[in-house]
Amino acid sequence: MPEDLSPGMMTPAAGRRRSRMDMLVLGGGVAGLSASLAFARSGHHVVLLERDGPPNGASPDEVFDRWDRPGIAHFRQPHNFLGLARDVLLEEAPDVLDAVVAAGGLENRQYELIPGGWEPEDERLVSICARRAVFEIALRRAVEAEPNVSMRVGTRVVGLLTAGTSRSDLPHVVGVRTGGGEEVRADLVADALGRTSPVMSWLDPLTVRPPLERRSECGLLYYSRHFRCRPGLDVPAFPALLRGPRGDLGYLAFAVFVEDSRTFALVMMIPPWERELRALRFEEAYMAAASSMPSLAPWVHPDQSEPITPVLPMGRLQNLHRSLMVDRQPVVVGIQPIGDALCHTNPSVAYGASLSVHHGFVLSRVAARAEDIGSIAAAFDDAVGEDVAARFDAVSAEDRDRLRLWGGEPIDLRNPDDSMALFLRMSVYPAAARDPQLFRAVARRVNLFDPPDAMQRDPELIERARRMAVDAGPPPRTGPTRAELLETISAARN
Ligand SMILES: Cc1cc2nc3c(=O)[nH]c(=O)nc-3n(C[C@H](O)[C@H](O)[C@H](O)COP(=O)(O)OP(=O)(O)OC[C@H]3O[C@@H](n4cnc5c(N)ncnc54)[C@H](O)[C@@H]3O)c2cc1C
Repeated sequence: MPEDLSPGMMTPAAGRRRSRMDMLVLGGGVAGLSASLAFARSGHHVVLLERDGPPNGASPDEVFDRWDRPGIAHFRQPHNFLGLARDVLLEEAPDVLDAVVAAGGLENRQYELIPGGWEPEDERLVSICARRAVFEIALRRAVEAEPNVSMRVGTRVVGLLTAGTSRSDLPHVVGVRTGGGEEVRADLVADALGRTSPVMSWLDPLTVRPPLERRSECGLLYYSRHFRCRPGLDVPAFPALLRGPRGDLGYLAFAVFVEDSRTFALVMMIPPWERELRALRFEEAYMAAASSMPSLAPWVHPDQSEPITPVLPMGRLQNLHRSLMVDRQPVVVGIQPIGDALCHTNPSVAYGASLSVHHGFVLSRVAARAEDIGSIAAAFDDAVGEDVAARFDAVSAEDRDRLRLWGGEPIDLRNPDDSMALFLRMSVYPAAARDPQLFRAVARRVNLFDPPDAMQRDPELIERARRMAVDAGPPPRTGPTRAELLETISAARN
């Protein structure tokens, strides 16, 4: 037990971990479920504490419609699950992938779009199209079926339990307190409490050296709506990596997320300073706006689909990066943040759920190899620390530059020196459809297989992409001007 470990925890002899450990997972979202499954299948005993109640309903539609998830504000927002998530599941939990597909999820074979055909190694380029509820319930059912997991729903975590160590500057988390006054102890605690995890504030008075925390604004308001295709119809064919149209009008961006069971979702995103376009929260304004965009109109036409949710607005979106390793030293032991509690980024890049799956399984592998509990933080940081820091930096830079562009600053989207982030997103991604090498590089970046700066570290590739972008001329306008859109919205509301 942790009490036995703590006094000599940092010395290999006294601190050797047991092969079958007591794991405590805080939060039953994608990260917590992934970690629980990974721990349980490695033979550990797992207690999972989750504040929300159990799913209500059996079918994918019932779970999507009825599961009350106040603990996850974005539970019904559209999600893409990228190649990394699929790779991890294929390797570690293929039954979960099978369950998502059996529930109507699609394996989106991006490699079929490679100009000139694909090689066997390209067959990794597959994302999963499913509503988040459908993906999460598949993971959850797998966890529920594990005899080593005790899942306690309706249990809110309210604080940490700590023990002293031989080093007075290094607190050791040995468990948590619940809202019901219970103390739950474990060898290792995984903080999977999501984007609003309070664990850092609980650690604040305990740690001598503060954990690292960096934040930046995404600068977006999200307006989403889910649709289902009419009986007998499937989603329109659209040859894009993530299967749906995406665009940036210079004052509003949009993206279609293809989902399971002939459903799809549309997101329209506007900057935080935009007041008039907040009318998108009204259904008639939303539908009129979508119908006025040439690439979206066929999707939302009443002959093609019908809405299955109201418009779902969401704001207060931030990028965040945390680490419990500072200057290569842990600031606390016995606890490890994973998923959104560790890092979250602009949701439109769709990294979070896939990284959450990845972190859950990495933590389990790291724990299996660690000599002692005290070495887990460093080993986990070695495995994912650089990656999450780089993703936070890359997405923060893109958000910053997009806000500069939307704010009216002249940025040449075909010039990487003006903004590498926008050059990649707005010039190189569209050009990838015409060049196999570019396609593979973009697809590996989008699917989280390559570090975010892999493309810019290849000057030849960047120069070829730049020439292609210049030859193609300015990107075509993919929708109305702001003034035209406001007029359309106003007409629809009167
Ligand atoms: C608008 C939006 C769209 C997104 N779209 C995508 C996308 O397309 N693709 C993608 O990969 N990612 C997307 N994400 C990000 C993705 O949803 C997250 O990265 C993912 O949910 C993180 O999983 P998690 O388990 O870390 O956290 P969460 O899913 O937030 O889970 C946290 C869990 O902890 C529980 N909890 C919280 N507090 C307590 C407490 N005190 N005690 C007990 N339990 C508690 C909650 O109820 C919840 O179950 C999106 C995010 C947003 C905001």
